[in-house]
Amino acid sequence: MGNDTHPITVKFWGTRGSIPTPGKYFVKYGGNTPCVEVRCGDTILIFDAGTGMRELGASLLHEFAGSPREYHILISHTHWDHIQGFPFFHVAYLPGNKVTFYGGNSVSALENLIFGQMDREYFPVTLFELSAEVTFKTLVESPFAINDVKLYFTHQIHPALSLGFRIEYRGRVVVYATDSEISNDPEIERINERNIGSLIKDADILIADCQYTAEEYQAKVGWGHTSIDKAVEMSNRYGVRNLFAFHHDPLRTDEQLDIMIDNARNLVKPPLRLHCAREKTTVRV
Ligand SMILES: [Zn+2]
Ligand SMILES: [Zn+2]
Repeated sequence: MGNDTHPITVKFWGTRGSIPTPGKYFVKYGGNTPCVEVRCGDTILIFDAGTGMRELGASLLHEFAGSPREYHILISHTHWDHIQGFPFFHVAYLPGNKVTFYGGNSVSALENLIFGQMDREYFPVTLFELSAEVTFKTLVESPFAINDVKLYFTHQIHPALSLGFRIEYRGRVVVYATDSEISNDPEIERINERNIGSLIKDADILIADCQYTAEEYQAKVGWGHTSIDKAVEMSNRYGVRNLFAFHHDPLRTDEQLDIMIDNARNLVKPPLRLHCAREKTTVRV
């Protein structure tokens, strides 16, 4: 994956917010909770560990046929929909593999939150069966490096905060910025907009929280998510080229998502293009 003209490959494994949504109304865009694979050369970055992670693990096992690899998992925050896939991430059960978690919580807090869901009361397999080497890193300084990839993070407005990530590799920029509330309140937004603006500026790909329509957002102020109108407005303002609407509301059917995206296209100004993040699709930049 990846080449000189398109050095970064992004694959969506889970695009749904809050809770998995199986069923016939969710087949097109998918029902798994957030998990996005970003390949930069040989470096495998994984953003969030929602239920999409199960199929990512199966695909990696198939691709590498058991030869040991290193996987970097960056956690935006530890709400259930962003960590619940990890116990089903098969590569973590293979000796020789290395898995490193990066998050905003302290190392021990992050470890407790990720492994806490694997307590005997919740999950049948014990930690001792996780044969990969699993380590945790607290993100303190931005930017930071993973191999030859440069990453930035910023704190986003969300209950208990979340992290947005900017990935820079060989002249391309991908941003993962979900579970982030960008409100219409000018007081709150003075600082937030500066942070979010520098995070997303000139991104080739922005994967952003677009859970609500502008109308729905009015009743959800303070819930920690953004309207698609606001995400488009910010993308227009900061020179984003491709916005992928992400963290789809669990109540939103495929048909309704198509309508929501179509309506928001009226707000898009060149060079921006608006897309709807769809499970199992790959994008190269
Ligand atoms: Zn979420
Ligand atoms: Zn959340």
